[in-house]
Amino acid sequence: MLGGGQLGRMFTVAARTLGYRVLILEPDFHSPAAQMSDDHIIAAYDDEVALEAFGKRCDVITTEFENIPAQTLEFLAHYAPVRPSAHAVKMAQDRIVEKEFVRACGLQPVPFVAIRTAADIAAAANSIQFPAILKTARMGYDGKGQVTVHSVAEAQAAFAQLQGVDCVLEQRVALEREISVILARSVDSEVRCFPVAENEHRNGILHQSIVPARIDTALAAAAQAAATRMADKLDFVGVMAVEFFVTHQGELLINEMAPRTHNSGHYTLDACVTSQFEQQVRMVCELPFGATDLLSPVVMVNMLGDLWHDAQPNWLALLQSANTKLHLYGKHQARPGRKMGHYCTLSAQLDEALTEAAYIFQQLQ
Ligand code: ADP
Ligand code: MG
Repeated sequence: MLGGGQLGRMFTVAARTLGYRVLILEPDFHSPAAQMSDDHIIAAYDDEVALEAFGKRCDVITTEFENIPAQTLEFLAHYAPVRPSAHAVKMAQDRIVEKEFVRACGLQPVPFVAIRTAADIAAAANSIQFPAILKTARMGYDGKGQVTVHSVAEAQAAFAQLQGVDCVLEQRVALEREISVILARSVDSEVRCFPVAENEHRNGILHQSIVPARIDTALAAAAQAAATRMADKLDFVGVMAVEFFVTHQGELLINEMAPRTHNSGHYTLDACVTSQFEQQVRMVCELPFGATDLLSPVVMVNMLGDLWHDAQPNWLALLQSANTKLHLYGKHQARPGRKMGHYCTLSAQLDEALTEAAYIFQQLQ
């Protein structure tokens, strides 16, 4: 496993539960995944000596992090199958490349213009209305590297502040809601989608996922078909996620993709027959698919470091909720905005799960 965060941790638990041994490559000594693994190589992702030692010990290699250099994945492919491939991961590393790929799939990205020079901004004003969002093309996550701008002048100032790195200027869309599809694709090119999640963000970070999404079945099917088309076109092997915006007109726009398991798929740990992490194990190890059926309506709520502002969160309400499952990631330090854990509240009635999850969240503060 390349990467040692919480996604790698939950993968590691799933893999070891199925009897596999897991080796983590992650530069940080403190690693949520390495705590659970058989062994941990502490090295940079471009350290070829370490990569060679890692590659020689692996039967198959996967990732939890889309910013592993594509060169690293190509290098490792000499030692063992790398799933997903460098080609598929690369597509998600640059927003410009990713959005052009979405168009090439015959799907609709959020209206955008690639910004490589200040002159591109003035030209973009012809096709993009303000307010708009300037996003760095590379390395953004949890809303980082994004600035909302209201004019060409503001966009130019923001571009200068971002030191002129490649960006996209994106229309700010009025959202009816956000949804996501997590899917798995096998070495035999078969696809299974998990149920569509409805996602609420706060300050650009996922706050909660509600499943099933409160959308009609035609829209859910369209989202699953779009995600499948992207996976097929990438010849993807493993688990990937596609984030969508639904406009007030009911239009489905593609926000972004992740070539890995996804925060909005954490509900599968407690509410599905097979979790997204077990499915990733199954795909990379060439096992059959596990069933993706939803066993119960569920609300997944993220716990950010903010909840640890002066001490531990107040756990009582969460622990007293017998139908709520807590997952902590073993991170050594709580920082504002850092994902420390999550919980899933299950109930036969989605409304009840929502009410209970919201009550627990309020009590945690
Ligand atoms: P990240 O890589 O940080 O997840 P996203 O592009 O997914 O970046 O943005 C994070 C969140 O910010 C989105 O889930 C959405 O809530 C909001 N957002 C981003 N872009 C737009 C947009 N063009 N219009 C409206 N909201 C947006
Ligand atoms: Mg996102």
